[in-house]
Amino acid sequence: MTIFEKSVQGRKGYELPVYDIEEVKCEIPEHLLRKEPPMLPEVSEVDVVRHYTDLALKNYSVDRGFYPLGSCTMKYNPKINEDMAALFTNLHPFQPRETITGAIKLMGHLKELLCEITGTDDMTLQPAAGAHGELTGLLVARAYFEDKGELEKRRKVLVPDSAHGTNPASAAMAGFEVIELKSGEDGCVNLDELKAHLDDSVAVIMLTNPNTLGLFEKDILEIARMAHEVGALLYYDGANLNAIMGRTRPGDMGFDIVHLNLHKTFSTPHGMGGPGSGPIGVKKHLAPYLPVPIVKKTESGYDLDYNLPKSIGMVRSFYGNFLVMVKAYTYILTMGNKGLKHVSDMAVLNANYLRKKLSRLYKVAYDRICMHEFVIDNEEFAKKTGVKTLDIAKRILDYGMHAPTIYFPLIVHEAMMIEPTETESKMTLDRFVEIMEKIYEEAHSNPELVKKAPYTTPVKRLDDVSATKFPIFRYKK
Ligand SMILES: *Cc1c(COP(=O)(O)O)cnc(C)c1O
Repeated sequence: MTIFEKSVQGRKGYELPVYDIEEVKCEIPEHLLRKEPPMLPEVSEVDVVRHYTDLALKNYSVDRGFYPLGSCTMKYNPKINEDMAALFTNLHPFQPRETITGAIKLMGHLKELLCEITGTDDMTLQPAAGAHGELTGLLVARAYFEDKGELEKRRKVLVPDSAHGTNPASAAMAGFEVIELKSGEDGCVNLDELKAHLDDSVAVIMLTNPNTLGLFEKDILEIARMAHEVGALLYYDGANLNAIMGRTRPGDMGFDIVHLNLHKTFSTPHGMGGPGSGPIGVKKHLAPYLPVPIVKKTESGYDLDYNLPKSIGMVRSFYGNFLVMVKAYTYILTMGNKGLKHVSDMAVLNANYLRKKLSRLYKVAYDRICMHEFVIDNEEFAKKTGVKTLDIAKRILDYGMHAPTIYFPLIVHEAMMIEPTETESKMTLDRFVEIMEKIYEEAHSNPELVKKAPYTTPVKRLDDVSATKFPIFRYKK
């Protein structure tokens, strides 16, 4: 029963004192005023509490169980992050600068830590998500080439076919022509393919390392050399820094621009769980083009600098999603230098443990030592049993765990992309393997069972295309 159906006319959950102040004349123009009161449910306080508790119980989250979404990284968010963020919830972006020096200092210190982690020289914390960081990074590249008088000829952005879909989308939005690079047999960038497309018409090469197959691009230094030789910039999609944080740095690999997803690598919950933050770090030669304001170190501490004549301008209101920064900052400080290295090590160890265990029954695409994630290729499995990746994912829900990412990256058909993250115990990983083995057995003995899953969830198979094309956000009687 929805909360609207529980509504009883006249029932109240609160009581306001009798109105004893002078009425203020309403200055909202007549035509903008509601003609009828909004349709709000009339319920008691306990009805509201139960409504939200019911919703929370229907929801699945990292705090409830294993959530192995490859690439989208759903890692555990230590509760101290929320405590720290709560200290700042009374701040308002319109407050005078003198009253927010602590917040500015936090941003300044966070920026320094993230520059250190990525090997970049300067950074903006403004973008509100990974894709937003990509767009910002490409606009910075655009401004850089425009300044050099090369924008006319540099029209192309090269993107591997394994890339996250936001990469080509961001490049197109920034006004570039997107050229797809076919991955090599080993799942990595093919140097011959790269060479064939590389000349001075290329503005940017967008890569991620490890790539979306969870594989480390072993030729990265050579790729960086080739890119810079023709004057192109190398862009790093750092949404998933989980495998290399504290071990190696995109800046040292030769990348010029790096975006991070604070809401993936640095714990902060995301998706339905909260907003994101996609800072971009750049090497010195690109710093003048970063969005304003930039947080800068001064003699007495940190301040906001609006005086960047070559800046691309603001990309978001105020300073970005500040509370997300507080959570990431808390995470970095609580982990410390050694802790962050340990996070990377455990993320890689957990992924390889699962890869090895699952490869007994499932085919792992590019089956070799992976970084923080790996991809299963269910194409043959689906041909043989009729059970597709989607069916396996739905069946996993019946066994009480969240499914991995499916159908990404696109170069693996029937892909299932698994990322256990660093905090999961062997016990949890073994339980996941057990579930996957059980489903394997079911797919062979009773495929129909798997194809009709899930049976235990509040809603069954949804029409997700209609849901995005024709969403219904309002309750109608
Ligand atoms: C999640 C992700 C993005 C996009 O980040 P959003 O915050 O969702 O916009 C880009 N690249 C990769 C590899 C990702 O995993």
